[in-house]
Amino acid sequence: MQIAGKTVIVTGAARGIGRGIAGAFARQGANVVLADLGALANRTAGDWNYALAAETELARAADDIRERGGNCAALEVDVSDRSSCQALVDKAIAIFGRVDIIVNNAGIIQTGSLAEFAESDWDRIFAVNVKGIFLLSQSALPRLKANGGLIINIASVAGKRGFPQMGAYCASKFAAIGLTQSLAAELAEFSIRVNAICPGNVDTAMWFDHLSKSEWQRRLHGTDTVEDTFNAVIDATIPLGREQTPKDIAEAALYLARAENVTGVSLVVAGGFVMN
Ligand code: NAD
Repeated sequence: MQIAGKTVIVTGAARGIGRGIAGAFARQGANVVLADLGALANRTAGDWNYALAAETELARAADDIRERGGNCAALEVDVSDRSSCQALVDKAIAIFGRVDIIVNNAGIIQTGSLAEFAESDWDRIFAVNVKGIFLLSQSALPRLKANGGLIINIASVAGKRGFPQMGAYCASKFAAIGLTQSLAAELAEFSIRVNAICPGNVDTAMWFDHLSKSEWQRRLHGTDTVEDTFNAVIDATIPLGREQTPKDIAEAALYLARAENVTGVSLVVAGGFVMN
């Protein structure tokens, strides 16, 4: 697919991996819709175990693209809400006239043992990480059918193998890969390709505000600070010896956008951490 001139919606684009993907598509000449909780995050502040992206972060991510000459819009969405997803697609059409690519990147994590894991946390992880993909993909489907579009789902190495204390998150990412494969088979007749990317360890809020702070991670690696914990995880898990970056993941997304004969894959970008 030729990327220039296409419209791509990236969810969870206010920061981290989503912001990196949005910037990469903008540099290739795409119209980019950066979609995140925006003001909704202000209203729900404090109801998750780490802060989700604030309205100001979404605005800053869009300003950054515009300052580099990119074409973008920053729009609010809660991917776990059907009407919010439909409104996002409608607004994207109103602004750019078309939608070609959906990057379902928004995601959340909570860790903890099965014995103590809260049912409400399980439900919210699935509502964002799995149902969010379903809702936004369904909302955009008529437009994607018209244009022969593309869906990229950001799964994880945690969708390839299980990890202790991560049952809900792993299950949600395995589900994201299953959904990717089903949709790839189902939508091929419309020339819509559906792929997933499985990042390894990227230094974003997910790691620094949650995983590196987890008592079990610190105990496992015998570390005190979040930086030491993250570095110890990289040393212990990544054969290539370095963390992954939003740029690494964005490169994979650009490849999948261009790779006309690739569908149904879940591409691991993890320096050899997981090899299937
Ligand atoms: P992040 O927390 O920085 O980014 C996630 C974004 O999603 C945030 O901006 C947040 O506001 C947004 N979001 C959360 N709930 C939302 C909702 N209901 N509607 C809309 N937006 C919502 O973390 P990240 O590491 O950049 O995560 C991006 C994706 O990459 C996630 O799907 C995550 O599971 C996946 N991933 C991350 C890593 C890693 O090491 N960081 C590894 C593998 C996979």
